[in-house]
Amino acid sequence: MSRVYNFSAGPATLPVEVLEKAQSEMLDWQGTGMSVMEMSHRGKAFVSIAEDATARLRRLLDVPDDYSILFLQGGAAGQFAGVPLNLLGEGDTADYIVTGNWGKKAIKEAGKYGTAHKAASSEDSSFTTVPPRAQWQLSDRSRYVHYTPNETIQGVEFQETPDVGDVPLVADMSSNFLSRPVDVARHGVIYAGAQKNAGPAGITMVIVRNDLMGRAQSACPMVLDYKQQADADSMLNTPSCYAWYICGLTFEWLENQGGLEAIEAINKRKAAKLYDFIDGSDFYSNPVDPAVRSRMNVPFLLADDALNAGFLAQAEEAGLSTLKGHRSVGGMRASIYNAMPEAGVDALIDFMRAFEKENG
Ligand SMILES: *Cc1c(COP(=O)(O)O)cnc(C)c1O
Repeated sequence: MSRVYNFSAGPATLPVEVLEKAQSEMLDWQGTGMSVMEMSHRGKAFVSIAEDATARLRRLLDVPDDYSILFLQGGAAGQFAGVPLNLLGEGDTADYIVTGNWGKKAIKEAGKYGTAHKAASSEDSSFTTVPPRAQWQLSDRSRYVHYTPNETIQGVEFQETPDVGDVPLVADMSSNFLSRPVDVARHGVIYAGAQKNAGPAGITMVIVRNDLMGRAQSACPMVLDYKQQADADSMLNTPSCYAWYICGLTFEWLENQGGLEAIEAINKRKAAKLYDFIDGSDFYSNPVDPAVRSRMNVPFLLADDALNAGFLAQAEEAGLSTLKGHRSVGGMRASIYNAMPEAGVDALIDFMRAFEKENG
């Protein structure tokens, strides 16, 4: 068996310990004689798995008691619709802060279910910045303000939770979820697809303040209705059972790492190493404002695009996989989520240094 360092943006690398535990429990989960994939979601065994995962997530993020944690299907993109369907009534407006491709998709989808107002955008800078808070044009009677704490494609990350007063703040936290502590109480809704930093694809976590539930539009599909799902413990219909289980193992792994403060310190160090190397080289570059560079997704360009194919092929040979950048940005992108060991970042830097020497 050989594993590569997988820099995929998502679905992304998972901790080896999580995969090994899942492997050891694959055929017989804790004496039940069956795999988690084969269990009834209504049975005692799976209900305990779901409750355990939910409790671990609540502890990790220090989620206050007046918030519900849901595990839904439909991905983060499902929540692009779920958020307005739950929070916007007839004629209501929501504000969107657009700092990359995902924010653009979110505002477009929200426009189908209400008025989605672009209150700020960094598109003029090709999404290499975050618009200063003072320049946001928030609406007078906004039902919520939506932002994307980490834009996975551009590699732009808010370093602080923005202040929007009493208006509920909604975060698409898909690509930096659980990478650092977050003040949940400053948000109305936080949602995240699992497949970047929390588990496998197919499950989406939604953390919602209880007073924001119960006002969904009548056309809201029941599976996206926060109140109905909360009342049913996210089991209004069959949940994504196996993905939920793996998320639980990942949360346990995170607790074993020392929790979010400990993982944040590692993530800071990993990202700083890579950016320092890029900044110290004339061959590689990163276009993002250093004040808002992502700790999770590091896009970088080579001095000459003609070298991209060779870089990718040689990286693959060296066991460094999936470094190709998103087509809208070009170049390379190294996603270095929680589960990417520091040794993987070191190996990438060593490879980049050697490639530069040969081709620079
Ligand atoms: C990947 C991603 C999405 C899309 O997630 P799906 O689960 O595929 O719908 C949305 N927002 C962000 C920030 C992402 O990184």
